[in-house]
Amino acid sequence: MASESEDRQRAIWENREAEAGAGQAPSEASGDPRLQAVNRQQMAWRAVDVEQLITEDHPARAIWHLVGKLDLSAFYKGIGAVEGEAGRPALDPQLLISLWIFGYSEGVSSAREIARLCEFDPAYQWLTGLQPVNYHSLSDFRVGHREALDKLFTEVLGLLSAEGLVSLQRVMHDGTKIKACAGADTFRRKEKIRAHLEMARQQVREMGDSQNEELSQRVAKARQRAAHERQERLERAEKELQELRARKSTAEAQREARVSETDPEARIMKQSGGGYAPAYNVQISTDAARGIIVGVGLSQSAGDWGQLDGAMDRIQEKLGRLPEQVVVDGGFTSREAILDMDRRGVDFIGAIADTTVRAASQFARRGVEAAFRPEAFAYHSESDTYTCPAGKVLHYERKHRDIGVTDYYYRASATDCGSCEFRKNCCHANTNAGRSVVRAEEAPAVAAFRAKMATEEAKQIYRQRGAVAEFPNAWIKTKIGLRQFRLRGLAKVTMETMWACLTYNIQQWIRLRWRELSMPRTV
Ligand code: SF4
Repeated sequence: MASESEDRQRAIWENREAEAGAGQAPSEASGDPRLQAVNRQQMAWRAVDVEQLITEDHPARAIWHLVGKLDLSAFYKGIGAVEGEAGRPALDPQLLISLWIFGYSEGVSSAREIARLCEFDPAYQWLTGLQPVNYHSLSDFRVGHREALDKLFTEVLGLLSAEGLVSLQRVMHDGTKIKACAGADTFRRKEKIRAHLEMARQQVREMGDSQNEELSQRVAKARQRAAHERQERLERAEKELQELRARKSTAEAQREARVSETDPEARIMKQSGGGYAPAYNVQISTDAARGIIVGVGLSQSAGDWGQLDGAMDRIQEKLGRLPEQVVVDGGFTSREAILDMDRRGVDFIGAIADTTVRAASQFARRGVEAAFRPEAFAYHSESDTYTCPAGKVLHYERKHRDIGVTDYYYRASATDCGSCEFRKNCCHANTNAGRSVVRAEEAPAVAAFRAKMATEEAKQIYRQRGAVAEFPNAWIKTKIGLRQFRLRGLAKVTMETMWACLTYNIQQWIRLRWRELSMPRTV
């Protein structure tokens, strides 16, 4: 069918021919503009110089070049197609890795979208050499090589280290919450999950009798697959809930425990922008020298407490040594972490909670006036006693050992406090016992840490933490768009994070090395 512009063009020509036939010159005032017709009815062959599809300094070349330098043998395991035998050759892991890295760097994290871009986008076409790539191959590859991906991350780190981009003199570590691929309304208690699981099993059993269905084979298979996947997800949810309940200390907490039926391994976590959502806690260690990610891990724990030790293990495993110094915020800083870092020989910079402030608020709540708080009690080391503001003696009572600290308890006699004129200002809640005070004796490493953190030098280092540690977190969320995982389950979201961090590191290499070095661009 002729297009509107073709009709229009034909009308103009017919008009001109009529004018010419009448021996009249087309007047300038009455002539319509002559336009080039768009012909979509034609078949055309175009010569494409694949090498010229992208510029010499295009990032796709850099990614292909870098990936080509790595040992990808771990990805070759499991490839069925072999030389000398019949069958379709497998896609080269160098290509699939490059496509994923380039896709992530462009904010594309969908296998379908990358496959679509391979059909027309010059950069993707250059990478594939104009060959189509099936999205199933891309999707399966992303999650099918966990160990190989981990090794690849280590390989890239080794390369960056060899090029002087990783020093490990100072590492900033931080955690960030990334939303899971599940809604908050998918969290259920034990009874509901069991009921849904029974329904899913029933559905799968009924689907076994395909004679009852007047469906095409393809639709029937798709439905069966969906029903099986739902059953498997609910079975995982039931198992995950059992483990979660086993960790709860009270019967009430066990009853209230819930997991998501969509992603059972996700946990409800507080989000940085406010509110709560199912999420994973992504732990990232960044080398302060050039901003390279030197360690990445995932946690189901909503808090960062206790995450630092694992982060150090990952750096040690990846780079064969520990950082000289690690800097973290208050969420990671505990006496336990201080002792761990001391044991490992890592200089620790952090923000430990000011226990004095916390104690002051607790005393205020209990109605203890400022003049009767612990600092108003005088300690006498020679007799190991305290004297209260009223001049009464508090004797040693007991001690309690905790990690990095021993608390010594001292108490005044009930008689002294009972008859004291300051009782209502000091310990009005005590009816049967005298006032007590606690003397905390911290481990030498903890005391040394507090002294260090009081220095201007340590405070200055700590002030640099935010800019370095939060940059990769922000980059991964804004550039790559990883604000919410596409995949489900701890193992798969770990891989999704690894791809994102790998892309971040390669992007840093492109910025710091590829663009500044005059590398040969022929690959
Ligand atoms: S209440 Fe007891 S501890 Fe407090 S000032 Fe009086 S005697 Fe001392």
